Amino acid sequence: MNEIFLLKLGEIVLKGQNRRAFENCLKGNIRRSVKHFGSFRVYLKQSTIYVEPEDESCDVDGAWEACGTVFGIASMCRCRPCEKNLDAIYDAVLSYLGDELALAKSFKVESKRADKAFPLNSIQLSQEIGGRLAEAFPQVLVDVHHPDYTVYVEVRDFAAYVHGPAQPGAGGLPTGMGGRAAVLLSGGIDSPVAGYMIAKRGVEIECIHFFSYPYTSEKAKEKVLELARLMTRYCGRMTVDVVGFTEIQEAIRDHCPEEYFTLIMRRFMMRIAQRIAKYHGCRALVTGENLGQVASQTMEAMAVTGAVVDLPLFHPLIGMDKEEIVTIARRIGTLETSILPYEDCCTVFTPKHPKTKPVLSQVEAAEAALDVEALIGRALENTEKVQVKYYDD
Ligand code: ATP
Ligand code: MG
Repeated sequence: MNEIFLLKLGEIVLKGQNRRAFENCLKGNIRRSVKHFGSFRVYLKQSTIYVEPEDESCDVDGAWEACGTVFGIASMCRCRPCEKNLDAIYDAVLSYLGDELALAKSFKVESKRADKAFPLNSIQLSQEIGGRLAEAFPQVLVDVHHPDYTVYVEVRDFAAYVHGPAQPGAGGLPTGMGGRAAVLLSGGIDSPVAGYMIAKRGVEIECIHFFSYPYTSEKAKEKVLELARLMTRYCGRMTVDVVGFTEIQEAIRDHCPEEYFTLIMRRFMMRIAQRIAKYHGCRALVTGENLGQVASQTMEAMAVTGAVVDLPLFHPLIGMDKEEIVTIARRIGTLETSILPYEDCCTVFTPKHPKTKPVLSQVEAAEAALDVEALIGRALENTEKVQVKYYDD
């Protein structure tokens, strides 16, 4: 094969005894991602995973993009493999990287010799290949300190590999190594990013969405399912539980003081989410809450909301600025869908003057008019489970 990917492991290399389990999980995740693009061999050697197309029909660009979404990879490079001798390495650099090198102002060669049986050490190898390249490209200066372009040569077990600059991988830990969590997914910008951040730590994700038809439209639900689908590009297939929330919202509107509408609604969300999460074997609830962003996201309000559940609550965006969140949403491809202008149930019956510093006992009193258990039971019965995945099998 004349092109192969080398994927360098991230934090996994810091693992002790269970490192092998992390590596096997990562290999499995990579296999699952690239299989949609043809037949690839995926194997691991010296803290590097090799992804090798097995025939000409493979969609190498597609597989490369897919590898960029697999958590657990720190950096990745597309390489040309060649025999472990100077002439073959030089020819590989010329044919594989010659065009890019010709456009650079300056260059250097950086070599790594993982195979200690190779006769030249890495400095000698860089000098040898660099010297030949300097003759072949007299207009491109050698600059070992701040080169415009770096040619990399890696002499490894099976072959030598030449490549240009590496690209960052998705980072994080392999999906599946960190258990499972449930994300409360709205149609906004924040919750998909929150889910992505927890997934990045190796956690499998299920999503829960509260849907208040006819106050929120079918289009709003489709938007949320599309956001979930975009998330599965990173975190693998998931179930989205779409909970019918209309009756609860109407009951709150009819029986509770207006200033507590949002808080009581959010407490219902948490209770229902916890039941669904436990059903799916999830060990935590994840929200897109962000300190101070809106009235329900003050410390006092979050304490009142969180008081109804015992699962750990993760709010990975808690200390971030909106701009930082938007940057991640844009990078992971959820922003465009998030900003489509459909309503969310949080914007239905919003109080004019919400309590920003609620007191738990007062919220409990405000809620006392409701038959909480009965409402939850009917909402759970009125829940639709939707399977979501990124690739069609
Ligand atoms: P987002 O951008 O994620 O919608 P937000 O800043 O608009 O967040 P809120 O609307 O107050 O904030 O919601 C806070 C969090 O509550 C959301 O990030 C999400 O985790 C959860 N949430 C809100 N609405 C829903 C919903 N309809 N279904 C499921 N979870 C929701
Ligand atoms: Mg919202």
